[in-house]
Amino acid sequence: MDRFVYTASPSRIVFGADSIDQLPAEIDRVGARRALVLCTPNQRGQAEAIADRLPGRVAFIFDEAAMHVPIEIARKARTVASELKADCALAVGGGSTIGLGKAIALESGLPIIAVPTTYAGSEVTPIYGITEDGLKKTGRDPRVLPSVVVYDPRLTLSLPLDLTVTSAINAMAHAAEGLYAHDGNPVIALMAEEGIRACAASLQPLQDNPHDLPARSLALYGAWLCGTVLGAVSMGLHHKLCHTLGGTFDLPHAQVHTVVLPHALRYNAAAAPDAMARIARALGVEDAAMGLFELARTHGAPVSLKALGMPADGLEKAAEYAASNQYPNPRPLEREALRALLDRAMDGAPPRP
Ligand code: NAD
Repeated sequence: MDRFVYTASPSRIVFGADSIDQLPAEIDRVGARRALVLCTPNQRGQAEAIADRLPGRVAFIFDEAAMHVPIEIARKARTVASELKADCALAVGGGSTIGLGKAIALESGLPIIAVPTTYAGSEVTPIYGITEDGLKKTGRDPRVLPSVVVYDPRLTLSLPLDLTVTSAINAMAHAAEGLYAHDGNPVIALMAEEGIRACAASLQPLQDNPHDLPARSLALYGAWLCGTVLGAVSMGLHHKLCHTLGGTFDLPHAQVHTVVLPHALRYNAAAAPDAMARIARALGVEDAAMGLFELARTHGAPVSLKALGMPADGLEKAAEYAASNQYPNPRPLEREALRALLDRAMDGAPPRP
């Protein structure tokens, strides 16, 4: 066996239907009394329903969380937290809302209690992102890792089916890249393979019935595993490409991951055969890249960047960024091959044979 280093994240996970009943005890456990509840405007109702179950423990509901954590919103939330003497951030939502909690924790050290409602995985990573003057700055800091994550699949019943599919594939992308990470390890590989299996297996039952609670639990369990992979090891080409496409061209997060993943895996396939075999095994298919492309297509997810609003004249710039910024990846970053990858993704073509 190869040498490896494994650092486990010190998060506490409370999982299962109705686990939000545990929130009062979990707030006590982090030593807090006045939670600042965070949500997006359209999840205000869900956040209020949770706040109603926490009488006397909610300082305020701040409902302005937005994609990519704009610095102005982060500053406003930090001010509210400090003026109201909130002693924990209770983030109810997806990666954007949990990201806002992280922006508060980064400055104040407030503990975060995360209640995820998508499969993005931010709740189990020490990674934060804040956008200032159109540039998203990301970093790692142990202060932003939520102290407790309460995974209640009932809160994901309302996740629209299109976002359910793309968010689950976004989760699988963390696990797929974790399987060929230069700093990977056998424990993380187990989580990655199981995470992909669980997320993929949940999609057909959810397509048939988005309110299927066991399938929602399976997807959320998979999302936890895949997010843990993201937090523990380095990501490669796929995540860098998505970061550039999302940040520079303002494309939606989970959807970009869904379109790019099959192509990024094909790019790396020959250089990472063991990872491809494990991904294929988890999906129950012969070919990892093609399996993911078909999974997206059969569940009605977008398969082309064009459909997400990518401008054709941005492809050259995206290839340039991806190739100029060297980072560990199984296959070296070759500009012409990256441009070809992006062209196929733009048109919705299947990954290169
Ligand atoms: P999101 O949090 O932006 O949510 C998308 C939309 O879906 C929002 O309007 C939200 O209110 C709504 N929504 C979420 N859950 C819902 C539910 N159960 N029912 C109804 N509506 C619901 O999307 P996301 O994909 O979860 O997160 C994307 C953001 O998270 C990106 O900015 C990304 O960079 C970041 N992210 C960060 C990390 C990290 O480790 N730091 C990891 C993954 C994603």
